[in-house]
Amino acid sequence: MQTRLADFIRDTAEGKEADAILRACVHCGFCTATCPTYQLIGDELDGPRGRIYLIKQMLETGAAGDTVRHYLDRCLTCRSCETTCPSGVRYGRLVEIGRAVVEDRAPRPLVDRIKRRALRWVVPEPRRIHVLMSVLNRLRWLMPTRYATQLPSFPRRREPSQIELDARLRGHDETHPRTMLLLEGCVQSVVTPHVNATARHLFGRLGITLVAAPEAGCCGALSTHLSARDEGLDYMRRNIDAWWPHIEAGAEAILVTASGCGAMVKDYGGALRDDPRYADKARRVSELARDPCEVLGAADLIRLGIKGHGRRIAFQSPCSLQHGQRLGGRIEALLRAVDFELVPVADGHLCCGSAGSYSVLQPETAEALRDNKLTALQAGKPEAIVTANIGCQMHLAGMSEVPVMHWLETLSEAATAELWAK
Ligand code: SF4
Ligand code: SF4
Repeated sequence: MQTRLADFIRDTAEGKEADAILRACVHCGFCTATCPTYQLIGDELDGPRGRIYLIKQMLETGAAGDTVRHYLDRCLTCRSCETTCPSGVRYGRLVEIGRAVVEDRAPRPLVDRIKRRALRWVVPEPRRIHVLMSVLNRLRWLMPTRYATQLPSFPRRREPSQIELDARLRGHDETHPRTMLLLEGCVQSVVTPHVNATARHLFGRLGITLVAAPEAGCCGALSTHLSARDEGLDYMRRNIDAWWPHIEAGAEAILVTASGCGAMVKDYGGALRDDPRYADKARRVSELARDPCEVLGAADLIRLGIKGHGRRIAFQSPCSLQHGQRLGGRIEALLRAVDFELVPVADGHLCCGSAGSYSVLQPETAEALRDNKLTALQAGKPEAIVTANIGCQMHLAGMSEVPVMHWLETLSEAATAELWAK
């Protein structure tokens, strides 16, 4: 695609990056067929090719306004289009640059700005999430049904706590010969803290201690996706500072159990590449970032005594796992290897509508996508829906007819059941 970027951006780092991305696009439109918003709405401007045109036009004329903001806001940043694109167009980065330009040149209405600021204030801080979730759960009876049904129970009840029983029997606090860092995250650490407890337990039984650096926190994805890039970069630098002593001491990897956060940490190297103080460290951190499915093998699960006994489950592959980290199929293969039966799920490449803060900021589209996703996931009559990202888990759980679990919880429950059967 030929480009002629306007003076305001042409010679900046973002301008050069956007120019290279735009030039790689050949207008073929293959991406449109796999875009969830285009599939749902049927408007070319609600698909990747249309949005690429809008961004190009804005960067060439400098004219930003409500129209371009509307269509860029409605993009989920799911990156399904990147997986489909034969020309390797880095759409995710392009839309990030496009959104920053809109934010700069056409400020949002005040109410919009307050909503986004509030999200950025609450979500990255576990204590604030804790307070908010407790208050909302108490006020559930006052809420319209639409919101009340979607609000996750907090704290989530699990009776009896199989993880605790299992941990009591086997123990997971001892130190093991191998060490990996664990990103505890923000939302997941409050809403489903047992996911990381499970990871500690499972990895401990494999001889790996998971260490959480207390100063590390939000991965920076929320701020980055809400066009507060500097704030996002500060979160990344804070995490790098927290992890660096452990990396120097020999931590083998940085384990990230939420795939959305994992995709972000794997991008630290790219995001901080122009920061002379952090570029090298950020690159190293990204190299070390791992989803648990990159560390655990089928032989490990068998060694842990995990058996699915043909239990029927539907796997929801988060966009951040399959498009962001390109790890589609890995978790499914592990689950099959230990005898879970995975029911077929139509349109597995399409986003469930969670997409970070999208479900809060674009509720109508998010709900339509969630309903379609739940129909596809429940068509095979599974006993549970299994996923790998806290955002998808919360978004789907509110309206699902069956439990929605993180896949590590599924493994732990299977291991515990085996243990009690002996
Ligand atoms: S990121 Fe997702 S929603 Fe956005 S244009 Fe690409 S496929 Fe469509
Ligand atoms: S598939 Fe790639 S090259 Fe084709 S229109 Fe989409 S982004 Fe452009």
